[in-house]
Amino acid sequence: MTALEVCQKYSVPLLEPWEGYKAFWHGWHEKFLIYWLTHKDYCERLMEIEQRKTPEFGYAPNEREVRIKHFRPVVGILPADLEEARQAYVTARQAYGTAWQAYMTVYEQHRAELEALHARECDCKYWKPERQMMVFTEEAK
Ligand SMILES: [Zn+2]
Repeated sequence: MTALEVCQKYSVPLLEPWEGYKAFWHGWHEKFLIYWLTHKDYCERLMEIEQRKTPEFGYAPNEREVRIKHFRPVVGILPADLEEARQAYVTARQAYGTAWQAYMTVYEQHRAELEALHARECDCKYWKPERQMMVFTEEAK
């Protein structure tokens, strides 16, 4: 089901595309505000709510309708210090992502060395280097 079809099902307008991010009400079921979204994020969120927040996954029967109808962009002006705090969070998230990539690059550069060290220090038979994960099935022993 497309985002447009989701909107049509609940008789809400699909927002026109926008540049950058918008704050929304009820992007999540916790924290009524604030979830900055691109238009793509917004469309994906609509589809996710429709597909996942169903009674078969343990959600209330009216959850999809209530959330989709109230999943609307903030119209008023948000507090400036809130925006500043959000921007600091976004910057930190980006730094985290960059640091994680740098860490994984160095990890991969040393992978053979790390595998050899693990083999000397640990007698487990569950670590599968070819899969880079532990496998717990009997045949893996
Ligand atoms: Zn081990």
